[in-house]
Amino acid sequence: MVAAAIDLQKISKNFGSLVALHPTELTVSKGEYVLVIGANGAGKTTLLRLVAGVSRPSGGRVFICGKNLRTNAENRAKIGLLTHHSMLYEDLTAEENLRFYSQLYCIKEKDLKIEHSLELMDLNRWRHRKVSGFSRGMRQRLSIARAIIHNPSVLLLDEPYSGLDPTTRETLQKLLLELKTHGHTFLMATHRLEDAAPLADRVIVIETGQIIVDEPWQGSASELAKLFESRKERTL
Ligand code: ATP
Repeated sequence: MVAAAIDLQKISKNFGSLVALHPTELTVSKGEYVLVIGANGAGKTTLLRLVAGVSRPSGGRVFICGKNLRTNAENRAKIGLLTHHSMLYEDLTAEENLRFYSQLYCIKEKDLKIEHSLELMDLNRWRHRKVSGFSRGMRQRLSIARAIIHNPSVLLLDEPYSGLDPTTRETLQKLLLELKTHGHTFLMATHRLEDAAPLADRVIVIETGQIIVDEPWQGSASELAKLFESRKERTL
């Protein structure tokens, strides 16, 4: 049997007395594109950070491609994480940041991969500029390049379209579609339903730290918005 790309077993997260994520079970098959939607503060980022192993769970376990993430640190290389925290070094240039991450992941043909990543997100003209002088959109472009430079099989994307101009959004959309075609697995949290709807195979709605909807998906953005609103009303 092929192991699931992501398997969450009773994973939970508390911040003091606040329950950000109730014990949650979730299995995502290889190649699935799962969209995570929910209101502000619902627990989407918390979920993604737990799956990535950058946040310690209060309970439960995370398995990536069949291996416990906590006891198989090498498995982190299978994950590409994009969150609000850019994970970029302010005093390094765009190119130096990509070089740092390519070394961290022991990537083969580093120079080639760096050139490709800079080109992919149209960053060439800013490659020698320090990140401290970057605009929000420039940071987001570089964060995307950083998140995928090691060709991860599992992509955890938190608001990937945030701050991007329309041309770059289109570039990102094409890139995500290509990665999907090549069998990568996605867990993507976003409020941009019009961008996300065409890519998703499955949709999860989170409300106050609980998954209240988990369904296969093939609909449009407006249908997605309706689904979200109707389920939300039922829980009020
Ligand atoms: P948004 O759509 O606004 O990004 P979200 O669904 O991603 O929201 P989370 O960031 O996961 O929401 O937050 C879930 C809950 O956990 C919120 O109540 C938030 O205030 C709380 N929370 C998140 N991080 C922390 C933290 N480090 N310390 C305390 N509370 C936190």
